[in-house]
Amino acid sequence: MMQRSVYKVNLTKIVGEGEFPCPSCGEIISPDDGSEIVYEILDVKTNEDNLLEEILVVCKKCGIMIRLEGFEMLKEIKNELFDCDDYLLKGNIETNLFE
Ligand SMILES: [Zn+2]
Repeated sequence: MMQRSVYKVNLTKIVGEGEFPCPSCGEIISPDDGSEIVYEILDVKTNEDNLLEEILVVCKKCGIMIRLEGFEMLKEIKNELFDCDDYLLKGNIETNLFE
C-alpha cells in the first residue's frame, strides 16, 4: 500500500506574503505565484464567506503534497519579515502520513 506524505504549513506561523520553502526540497513556494512551474494547486477550500481556508498544493520539484492553512490570519501579519530558517527551526511543520 502506498503512503503519501502531506506536510502542513500554517500560514499564521510564518510572516511575509505567505511564501515558504518546500519542507522537503526547499524550493520557495508562493501562494501568489500562479505559474504552476514550482507547484500546482490540487484543491482549494473556502468557508461560507468565500474566504480561503485551505489550499492543497503539490511541489513539482520533489512531488510532496503541502496543505496550507491559516489564510484568515495572513493579512494581519504580512508586514513582518519572513525568515525561513527561523520558521524551520521552530518546528512548525507537521508531517502526517495516511494511506
Ligand atoms: Zn519540494
